[in-house]
Amino acid sequence: MKVTFYSLGGAEEVTGSKHILEIDSKSYLIDCGAFQGSRAEADRKNREFGIAADRIEGAVLTHGHFDHCGLFPLLTRRGYRGNIYTTPASRDIASLIMMDSAHIQARDAEYLRKQAQKKGEKFDWTPLYTEQDAIAASGQMVGISYNRPMPIGDSVTLEFYDAGHILGSAMADFTVKKPGGEKIRILATGDLGRKGKPIIRDPAIPANAPDYIILESTYGNRLHDNSRDAFDKLAEIAKQAVNTGGKIIIPSFAIERTQELVYYFHLLVDKKIIPEIPIYVDSPMATNATTIFQVHPQCYSEETKEAFIKHHKNPFGFNSLHFTASVQESKALNERKGPIIIISADGMCEAGRIQHHLIHNIEDPNTTILIVGYMAENTLGRRIRSREAEVKIHGEWFKLKAKVEEINAFSAHADYKETAGWLDELDTSGLKGILLVHGEKKAQVSLQKYLSEKGYPKVEIVKYGKTYDLE
Ligand SMILES: [Zn+2]
Repeated sequence: MKVTFYSLGGAEEVTGSKHILEIDSKSYLIDCGAFQGSRAEADRKNREFGIAADRIEGAVLTHGHFDHCGLFPLLTRRGYRGNIYTTPASRDIASLIMMDSAHIQARDAEYLRKQAQKKGEKFDWTPLYTEQDAIAASGQMVGISYNRPMPIGDSVTLEFYDAGHILGSAMADFTVKKPGGEKIRILATGDLGRKGKPIIRDPAIPANAPDYIILESTYGNRLHDNSRDAFDKLAEIAKQAVNTGGKIIIPSFAIERTQELVYYFHLLVDKKIIPEIPIYVDSPMATNATTIFQVHPQCYSEETKEAFIKHHKNPFGFNSLHFTASVQESKALNERKGPIIIISADGMCEAGRIQHHLIHNIEDPNTTILIVGYMAENTLGRRIRSREAEVKIHGEWFKLKAKVEEINAFSAHADYKETAGWLDELDTSGLKGILLVHGEKKAQVSLQKYLSEKGYPKVEIVKYGKTYDLE
């Protein structure tokens, strides 16, 4: 029996996760994420699949982020009819994300077609997939809860463990039984989270000693603030706004970050650390995602479960919390006086309703813009974080007079010490190798060195398309 591993995305980069575990010539796909970044290049990479859909025996999804689930509808479109194993919460989140992407692609195609028509140019761009494909892919998803070992093929068993990254996120633990009864255990972390995050549980320590670990390495060279610090800093900033009667505008990713903010604000009000301030979640996607959080209490930490069940409280709904649906409701927020908190998407301020809130409030020194997430280069969010004197929004220049505050404790990925800390708790007595994926080269080289110096055997940076034997 031959077991090998290779990567078709997420090798020496952080998007497009697509890994193949080949067991006796049968291919199991781990994640099918979309590439992101520069538009033309991402589009080209997304269309080159690297493996024919009918060669895949089974697929696994570790969590619902776009860079892990975003191309499953394309795989379906190209003829994949097999199962996609994932946790029930990830299935819901992925369905929302895939559908949203299909919708955006259809809108983009329409817009680009009109632009080309105006200029009299030829237009031949087609979306990667349609809403029908997204629905079909959702239909192939088979929910397996955490800690429920499930046979997924001849001599292959899959078990999910909490990854502590986002709601529903899982590490995929594969046990391969050799003809002689001997077992090979391969643990794919997916995106590895961190301890002390609100709502979800900490990353689990799988009971089985792995032979190989496929390990993410996004922050292989970085350290974060302690995730418990977020709560205190949030309290401080909210109190300031109460004193000055100002607005707090928070650009936030719709999934996980928004719900964490809502959960923290709920606790702050509950514990009477801050008075009840009106809080508005102004993003249709975030509102839909919050509904998913509400129906998956099986993913909550004990603390959250207690708040949810014992006190009959919904951690994502309380008196001063509002979800705006219509554009009118969103616009009405411009007239509101502070203190008020507005959480809106997109997270990097590149699109969506957040831009309107910035237009109306960025020149007011009484406003606080609170940065809680990663801001990529060349985004409006990055320019605000860098406190540029003037920023352009919707083609117009605005003076940045608002206060800019930052909380760096919200990251959903383990930093390198947290990653090593998790490894140290694992039974690595039989470990034969660590394969690093999902990280930029610099971070990976750094993590490789760090883990090798700690004595972990054979830490390798996975190269795109290269085959690794697992014995
Ligand atoms: Zn992720």
